[in-house]
Amino acid sequence: MTATHPEKLLSPVLSATWDDEKPWTLATYRAHDGYKGLHEALRMDPDAVIALVKDAGLRGRGGAGFPTGMKWQFIPQGDGKPHYLVVNADESEPGTCKDIPLLFANPHSLIEGMIIASWAIRCSHAFIYLRGETVPVLRRLHAAVAEAYEAGYLGQNVLGSGFDLDITVHAGAGAYICGEETALLDSLEGRRGQPRLRPPFPAVAGLYACPTVVNNVESIASVPAILHKGKDWFRSMGSEKSPGFTLYSLSGHVTNPGQYEAPLGVTLRQLLEISGGVREGHRLKFWTPGGSSTPMFTDQHLDVPLDYEGVGAAGSMLGTKALQVFDETTCVVRAVTRWTEFYAHESCGKCTPCREGTYWLVQLLRRIEAGEGEPGDLEKLQDIADNINGKSFCALGDGAASPIFSSLQYFRDEYEQHLRERRCPFDPAASTVWA
Ligand code: NAD
Ligand code: SF4
Repeated sequence: MTATHPEKLLSPVLSATWDDEKPWTLATYRAHDGYKGLHEALRMDPDAVIALVKDAGLRGRGGAGFPTGMKWQFIPQGDGKPHYLVVNADESEPGTCKDIPLLFANPHSLIEGMIIASWAIRCSHAFIYLRGETVPVLRRLHAAVAEAYEAGYLGQNVLGSGFDLDITVHAGAGAYICGEETALLDSLEGRRGQPRLRPPFPAVAGLYACPTVVNNVESIASVPAILHKGKDWFRSMGSEKSPGFTLYSLSGHVTNPGQYEAPLGVTLRQLLEISGGVREGHRLKFWTPGGSSTPMFTDQHLDVPLDYEGVGAAGSMLGTKALQVFDETTCVVRAVTRWTEFYAHESCGKCTPCREGTYWLVQLLRRIEAGEGEPGDLEKLQDIADNINGKSFCALGDGAASPIFSSLQYFRDEYEQHLRERRCPFDPAASTVWA
């Protein structure tokens, strides 16, 4: 496991141990101040822990950027019901590859964060819902949880505090929709994973209809360092509204793809400088700031600060911080077709706009790409995407519409070229990403 540390930008936190020998062991984690944040938390009142995380300004790293401390605060206290913490480790947004490497390299950062979060929300049973195909990560998580039990961090009377906590690791069966928090809860309860109506949000009625915090892996793994080093340290990185450090996944036509940890607000230009740039002899054509569900950017957006406000102001979303980079050899119609095929395949079928709309988008895109498009196809694409966006039951539908809108916005001429010339003007063999 290697992580590239942009030392010009920040000393790494989440990826600090990734290049050590056996970084996943408890011994390595402890050698890097592991579990010190937990000791700190257990000396504090649970509400004070929530206040600290809230004041630090940590925002959810799963995509939506919802304030983590506020989410914890929503859990009603004194309600007599069990409270649950569920970690969403079902990472599967196209281009996103940061939670799985984090778990593989440093599972104890998540486990320590889970114990702190559970203490804060008064939860005695927490769950990790993991992408099931990642069997080596599953094994590593099981081993790390066993180590934590052995060391007295889990089980009865955690570190003599009188607080009990069990962690269950659950492997999902590989459906993108089970990364949607309520579909995940249904799946965890043993049902077919389909989104539930919100509200009520999981904080009110989540797992087994009890108050539940659902947090992303990276969000929870960021908590121990905040407890250990404080909110001011955390706030010394990033911006006022998007403080702290984060993991960006850089993929596609770049010289050195991988996970890059940096303060929020770094730009793609800076990340490309550190990572060796776009592959040699080529130039940037388009990229995604937060996976395929976020509107694409072009070379005009190289200096957009990659934080929630910066990306939002430029017309997209930070999402999962999955920076997929495409050079001039890539056919944008082909790229959008591939993404849309993914959404059509992963649509759970519950609501008509997404189930039917993604199917018809794929039919249209395939024929345009094959040079068999007809006049009016671009208007049809736009119309179908309009009928999915904001009219679907969950965020998957909006995500499917997003690349259609942004590619038509920036590359309409390329679609028109396909229609006019009745062929794809690109050589698929030249674009290694799609080979
Ligand atoms: P959302 O904004 O609806 O909700 C974000 C979180 O805040 C949820 O946990 C929700 O329960 C909570 N929340 C929001 N309002 C609340 C309220 N009033 N009371 C209590 N809790 C409240 O976003 P979402 O639909 O859960 O997620 C969409 C995001 O998921 C997208 O931004 C996308 O980037 C991301 N995503 C990530 C992946 C991945 O692999 N990590 C995959 C697909 C999508
Ligand atoms: Fe299912 Fe798509 Fe509707 Fe979401 S938007 S509920 S994935 S059919």
